Amino acid sequence: MTLHSPEHTAQALDARLAAASLQERLAIIAAEEGRAVFTTSLGIEDQVITAAIGLAQLPISVSTLETGRLFKQTLDLIAETEERFGISIERFVPKQDDIDAYAAKFGLNGFYESVEARHACCHVRKLVPLAEALAGARFWITGLRRSQSGNRAATPFAEYDAERGLIKVNPLADWSIEDINAYVEAESVPTNPLHKRGYPSIGCEPCTRAIKPGEPERAGRWWWENDEKRECGLHVPEAPASAIPTPA
Ligand code: SF4
Repeated sequence: MTLHSPEHTAQALDARLAAASLQERLAIIAAEEGRAVFTTSLGIEDQVITAAIGLAQLPISVSTLETGRLFKQTLDLIAETEERFGISIERFVPKQDDIDAYAAKFGLNGFYESVEARHACCHVRKLVPLAEALAGARFWITGLRRSQSGNRAATPFAEYDAERGLIKVNPLADWSIEDINAYVEAESVPTNPLHKRGYPSIGCEPCTRAIKPGEPERAGRWWWENDEKRECGLHVPEAPASAIPTPA
């Protein structure tokens, strides 16, 4: 690792961000050279970051992955959030050829049948659009928190993502759900009404259920799978290349 390598920059940023507030963390990234992209799922953590960007009108691009399988409440929230904070949220959608190839190989809802099929669907509907959203970015801002799941317990404030060739920034890494709720209350941040119906973590409609009292926050995501560390591949590489269908 050299003094000006991205690994070194990420390490230095990690230490700098640790001592800063959320607003300061975002302002630090916005002041850095290079494009910063925040990808929002419209979940409550991401709404906090969107609010902080919007309230300060920071030069950070806000993007979302419109998978084509989102809840109506999530789609409505995109428009409400744009209006509330005077920002534009850029939608990245899957390619129709990819969806057709997936459906031909696995069936449109084939993700229930195997982990391989589920990873392939997330690849087509999330990972490919994510790559488009991050094209040319130097920084990728996310709403990951350490207390969301055991899989995220070691989330740093900044780290070099060698696979994508950018610095991943997690400005809420040390926030608790209580911190999130307090910010939402204080700033009147619009949130997904599904949160109050037992959905702390909301993804695509067919792959998200409400959780029972005492269950981990992400237990309602891909609930039919047994792996405790299940993710969609956005933040943890999961999909083996053989699982990915090639568009016809
Ligand atoms: S969460 Fe479900 S519907 Fe959405 S991309 Fe992944 S497998 Fe497909």
